[in-house]
Amino acid sequence: MTEWIGKTIYVDLESESVNIFRTDKELIRKYLGGRGLGVKLLLEFTDANIDPLGSKNPLIFTSGPLSGLAPMASGAVLTSKSPLTGTIFSWNMGGSFGRELKKAGIDALVIIGKAKKPSYVKITDESVEIVPAGYLWRTNIRTCTKALESNGSVACIGRAGENQVLISSFVVDSIHGGRGGLGAVAGSKMLKAVVVKGDKELLPSDPEKFQKLEMKVLKLFDASPMLSKGLANYGTSALVKLLDYMNLIPTRNFSGNKISFADALSGEHIKSTFKLENESCPGCPLGCNKRIKETGQILPDYDSLWAFGFNLDNSDLTSVLKADRMCKDYGLDPISAGSVLGACAELKPGVIEANGLESLLSEIGEGGKLGNGARKYLSSIGRKDLSMDVKGLELGGFDPRRIRGQALAYATSSHGGDYLTAFMVGPEVLGKPVGIDRLNLKGKAGILQVFENLIAVLDSFVFCPLSIFALSEELCSALLLSAADMETSPAELLKIGERIYNLERIYNLKAGFTWEDDTLPERLFINEGDNEGHGFLRQEFEAAIQEYYHYRGWDKEGVPTPEKLKELGLIC
Ligand code: SF4
Repeated sequence: MTEWIGKTIYVDLESESVNIFRTDKELIRKYLGGRGLGVKLLLEFTDANIDPLGSKNPLIFTSGPLSGLAPMASGAVLTSKSPLTGTIFSWNMGGSFGRELKKAGIDALVIIGKAKKPSYVKITDESVEIVPAGYLWRTNIRTCTKALESNGSVACIGRAGENQVLISSFVVDSIHGGRGGLGAVAGSKMLKAVVVKGDKELLPSDPEKFQKLEMKVLKLFDASPMLSKGLANYGTSALVKLLDYMNLIPTRNFSGNKISFADALSGEHIKSTFKLENESCPGCPLGCNKRIKETGQILPDYDSLWAFGFNLDNSDLTSVLKADRMCKDYGLDPISAGSVLGACAELKPGVIEANGLESLLSEIGEGGKLGNGARKYLSSIGRKDLSMDVKGLELGGFDPRRIRGQALAYATSSHGGDYLTAFMVGPEVLGKPVGIDRLNLKGKAGILQVFENLIAVLDSFVFCPLSIFALSEELCSALLLSAADMETSPAELLKIGERIYNLERIYNLKAGFTWEDDTLPERLFINEGDNEGHGFLRQEFEAAIQEYYHYRGWDKEGVPTPEKLKELGLIC
C-alpha cells in the first residue's frame, strides 16, 4: 500500500531555503487534496489583500488522493491569488504533473518569494533544488519543456509569463494551459519552471476492490456518448456542431449567436482534414488531445476554436491553428486573448485584419497593454461596457443568455467567468447527469450549488474536469475507500465540496469582493419589454442570486452566516 499522506514542501526562492513537513492528516480529511488543500493552504498562509505579483503570493501545487492511480487522475491543481481578477484561483492542470508529485510522496508544494535570478525548481523523490535557469529565460514553452523533460513532468511559463502578462499561464507537458494569469505570478518570482519526477510505486490499499471499481469507471466512460464518442474521437471540438445547432455559441464579442461557418471549425471537419493521433494524459483511455501526425501540432480545443474563430467571426482554420500554437508557445490563455481581441474588433471593425491576428498575439505575449485582459484594458480606454467578463475573468464560448444556469454559475464562480467551476452546460445542454430546462433561471440555484460542490470535490481528487460526464460522489467515495482506506460517505464528500466553496468565498470577501460582483456583463441585461432571449431582467437575475445565497446558507449580502461556518467546521 502506498503511504497515503505524504509531504508538504515549502520553497522560498528569496532565501533559497526548503522546508519539508509531514502533511497534517486532519487537513486531508477535511479538504482531500488538490483544490481543497490548495485553497486551505492559501488562506492559512497569506493575507487575502496581498499583491498577487508580490513576493508573498504563493504558488501552491497539489496532488490528490488518487493521483496517478485512477483513470483521468494524473493532473495536479495550482492555486494562487490571481493577478487578473484579484480572486482566489485554482487551476486543474491536466498532464502528468500530479502523478509525478504523488510518486515523489508530495501532497503540496508551496513556492514563495522572488528569486534574484531566473530559476527553476527541480524535484525528485530525494531532493528539492532551486536551479539557475538563465539559459532558459526568454525561451518559449516548447523549447523550455524539451530542455527539461528528461527530468520529469514540466510545468513552465513562456515569454508572456516572464513579461508578467496578466492573461498568461503555466503550460504543463507543453500541452495543458490554464487561466487566471498564474503565469505572471511565476514571472514575478523569476520562476521559469517546476519539474518533478517521482519513483515510488503507487498502490491502492485494497487492490482487488480498486481494480473492480476501476473497471466500473472505464465502463461508465464507455457508456457516456459525450466521452467515448465525442471527446475520444474529436476532442472538445466535438461540441461545435451541437452548440451551433442550438445557437449557443456567442459570436463577435457576444453581440450575436448565429454562425454561417460552424462546419469549417467543427471536429468532424478537422478530423477529415488531418491525420490525427491521440495524446493522452497518463492512464486516460480517452485521449481528448489530438495531435496532427504530419506537423506534431496539438489541435486547438473548443476554447481556442471559439476564441479565435467564432468570437472573431473568423472561419479560417489555418489562422486559428496558428493562434492556438502561439498561445501554447507564449503561455497565454486563449479565452482571455480572444475575448480582448473580440472587444477590440467590435470597437474598431477591421482592426484584426489590418494588424494580423499573429502580430496582435505577439504584442500581447511581449507585454502589450491588451495583455491586461478585457476588463482592465477596456476600462483604461473608457469602454468597460464592451468587456465580457465576470470579476475580471473573460467568459468562455457558451452563451449564458440561452444556458441560464450557466449564467448564474458565471456570476457566482469563485474565479469569475470560469465555466469549469460548475459546468452547467452538462445538464442544460448535454443532459448529463440529468437534463434540465436551459432557458429557465428559476429553480437553478439549488442545482447549481450542488454542482459547484461536486466539482470542488472532483478538483480535490484532481480528476480531469471532463470526468464530470461519468463520475459521481458515490463512485468517488468507493474509490477513496479502496485506494486510501479512507471512509467518507457521498454526503460527506459533498460537504467537503461545500466547505471548499465557502472557504473560497471567505477569501474573496476578505480580498474586497462583495455581492455586487456576483453579476454579469452589462450586455447580458435587458429592460422590461425587450425580447427575453436577448438577456436577463436585472430584477429576475438578482432574485436568482438571492435564491442562491439562501441555498448556500449565506446572508442577503452573500456572506456565509456564523451558523453555516460552524456547520462546516470553519469556526468553532
Ligand atoms: S480527457 Fe483529455 S484532458 Fe482529461 S485526462 Fe483524458 S486526455 Fe487528459
